[in-house]
Amino acid sequence: MANTIPTRIYLNEEEMPKFWYNLRADMKEKHDPILHPGTLQPVTASDMEAIFCKELVRQELDDSTKMVPIPERLLDFYRAFRPSALIRAYYLEKELGTPAEIYYKFEGTNTSGSHKLNSAGPQAYYAKEEGLETLTTETGAGQWGTAMAMACGFYGLDLTVYMVKVSSEQKPYRKAVMETYGAKVVPSPSDTTDSGKKILEIDPDTGGSLGCAISEAVEMAIKTDKCRYVLGSVLDHVLLHQSVIGLETKAAMDKFGIKPDIIIGCAGGGSNLGGLIAPFMGEKLAGKSNARFIAVEPASCPSLTRGRYVYDFGDTAKTTPLLRMYTLGNGFIPSANHAGGLRYHGMSPILSKLYHDGYIEARSEVQTDVFDAAIRFMKTEGILPAPESSHAIKAAIDEALECKKTGEKKVILFGLSGTGYFDLSAYMQYNAKTLTDKIPSDDDLAKGFASVPDIPQNK
Ligand SMILES: *Cc1c(COP(=O)(O)O)cnc(C)c1O
Repeated sequence: MANTIPTRIYLNEEEMPKFWYNLRADMKEKHDPILHPGTLQPVTASDMEAIFCKELVRQELDDSTKMVPIPERLLDFYRAFRPSALIRAYYLEKELGTPAEIYYKFEGTNTSGSHKLNSAGPQAYYAKEEGLETLTTETGAGQWGTAMAMACGFYGLDLTVYMVKVSSEQKPYRKAVMETYGAKVVPSPSDTTDSGKKILEIDPDTGGSLGCAISEAVEMAIKTDKCRYVLGSVLDHVLLHQSVIGLETKAAMDKFGIKPDIIIGCAGGGSNLGGLIAPFMGEKLAGKSNARFIAVEPASCPSLTRGRYVYDFGDTAKTTPLLRMYTLGNGFIPSANHAGGLRYHGMSPILSKLYHDGYIEARSEVQTDVFDAAIRFMKTEGILPAPESSHAIKAAIDEALECKKTGEKKVILFGLSGTGYFDLSAYMQYNAKTLTDKIPSDDDLAKGFASVPDIPQNK
């Protein structure tokens, strides 16, 4: 007998979202404003426009427009790789022997391999509309750089990607994809910027970090004509674009009357989780749903579960505006972990606020457990998951096993943010049993917290 709910639920083109959903408009309590690092006053649009495209700044500062139309030329871009499938994990459910229903939204079918293309497209589109010629950005594991390279290729813009040096050496194929799409890839720290030179003077052999690559990219944007900087996560406009994930998921679920009880996502800077939960959280804030939301982070970089809710810089050189967020401190250097996309010291201000107010739960997982969950998932569902996404798989499996104990038929939804095709060295280590779990000590964390700015707002 065929299942009443299909294994893969797709939307038709007409059913795809034409608007993004700005969750902030429905948050009664907004998160604290972004501060100018010099004056410690809320940033103005003109402060931000030195670094970011105008329209993105407008979106960043808009906490009242609920539905934001997606421009027609961008819908074209989305139609090239969306809608993504919402998949019922029938085979995983069976293997676990759980009464729970498990669904996942798979964002890894485009060439960049993750959800990041959902925001790369709009960021390149608005830059082109504004007459800019070049964009700069940083990339850690390479997913965001690849997504931006694709988007800039589509809209005809130059792109310089500062890629964390160790990643550019470990992931030559990522670099090759970006270069093939026409991007210039600079291993960071480099001697092309003052902040890069400064870091190299202190530590010539450093493998670099995301915070340091951000400093270089921002500096280049400020110093180059018709050039702006783009960021792949954390900021509110990125979460706005990523709401397309949640809107599609909700539309697909509504077709079959499915209501998730638990919604899970991995959290690095918070964009895939923020996008997935947006419309469901909107219902919860309106008192129309009792769903639980779970953010899963690596034990090696536990911003929500062990961080502080304070104002901090987004980068190591302390050049960005200040965001109030859960942070481990801009100087925190996480130990090597294969979920490169989750190695960021801070967290989206929207998710930080929701977590602080008790709307979201958070947990951290060690990578050996995460890879065990990934293997269980790939053997039943057939998809090789990204290590980042596997954090969500781990929590989904745990919740499903909890249902097995209690006999509850909960509906579990998780975000499968990407594929693991560029993470095979991590799987090789898993197979060779050489993966290790490094959890920072309280002393390690104290060093990071010492880098948080000493300003009245943090007292
Ligand atoms: C970048 C990335 C993440 C983490 O970023 P968020 O902004 O927290 O979503 C998660 N999964 C994949 C596959 C990524 O590439």
